Amino acid sequence: MSDNILSRRRLVGGLGAGIAAATLPGAAAAAQTSAADATAQPVADPTSKYPKPPYTSPFQPWPGLASKMTPPPDHGETSYKGSGRLLDRKALITGGDSGMGRAAAIAYAREGADVAINYLPAEEPDAQQVAQLIRQAGRKAALIPGDLRDENFCKRLVEQTVQQLGGLDIVVSNAGRQHQVESIADMTTELFDWTMKTNIYAPFWIIKAALPHLKPGSAIIATTSEQAYDPAANLYDYAQTKAATMNFVKSLAKQFGPKGIRVNGVAPGPIYTPLQISGGATEEHWRNFGGNYPLKRAGQPAELASIYVQLASQDASYTTGNIYGAGGGMGQP
Ligand code: NAD
Ligand code: MG
Repeated sequence: MSDNILSRRRLVGGLGAGIAAATLPGAAAAAQTSAADATAQPVADPTSKYPKPPYTSPFQPWPGLASKMTPPPDHGETSYKGSGRLLDRKALITGGDSGMGRAAAIAYAREGADVAINYLPAEEPDAQQVAQLIRQAGRKAALIPGDLRDENFCKRLVEQTVQQLGGLDIVVSNAGRQHQVESIADMTTELFDWTMKTNIYAPFWIIKAALPHLKPGSAIIATTSEQAYDPAANLYDYAQTKAATMNFVKSLAKQFGPKGIRVNGVAPGPIYTPLQISGGATEEHWRNFGGNYPLKRAGQPAELASIYVQLASQDASYTTGNIYGAGGGMGQP
């Protein structure tokens, strides 16, 4: 009897996917999975699911490449399964070549969205991998390299996204600059300015340029950090930009709420990405990265993908002005 119910559910799930597939362009249909497939993940112990410290991936010059990390980070390349949650949405993701941005880009494409990613020219090899994964999901990929510290480039980035994708309704402000400096005595105005331009000015310029294109139902998501709430001594400049990010999310949620545009943030704990091995962390900190957290390891970008999906999705229509965490058992929110 229960077998029959199960088979019937499978059949209905399969049919549903079949009907949806029939209305989708060719390759997009291949990315669709039945509800049963999408949730069919074995139960896994989060403490042993991914590599634990000591981490030995060598340091790289800034901005670093995910494709050169050993072992490589998991951005969901082989694991993320979509279920049409973002069908035909148009997303711009800054820092979409690696780390959390890449995990969001892969997940968005598999959920049915067209995706534009921004990154630095030096990150072209990582960006090409992401473009290939987006296209394999049957969606449009727009690659728009450039330096976000330049106001004119930020405006062009939004215009080119709208042109290439035919619209824009999800903005993920995720790119970030983190460079640890032990003492404020060694913090130069140039370094301070670099962090502020990347982490505070760029989101301001991008969101301002995007606003005229964002219809009701659109979503803005900013990557903040556990550092917004509990700043490290050697991240004096970076941590205050993440507090500012958390704060602008709440301000803009009030400003844009009446327009039907939601604004939320994601606050990761320690995550295994190029940012950390290209100046973000000291070697000593990197070796035991996340080791003193309750889950005894760093997080992987793939473990945050579903949060970026949820915050962009129409399901979360009452969620705005909120910060979602993936903190490994420590920190805020
Ligand atoms: P990452 O290195 O993979 O991504 C950061 C991206 O920022 C780079 O790929 C690069 O494309 C982009 N970027 C930096 N400066 C830029 C510039 N001037 N112009 C254009 N692009 C620029 O690392 P990540 O850890 O995935 O970082 C993503 C976000 O997550 C950042 O905002 C970071 O502050 C935040 N974060 C990271 C951690 C962590 O432990 N890794 C923790 C909390 C928050
Ligand atoms: Mg990168």
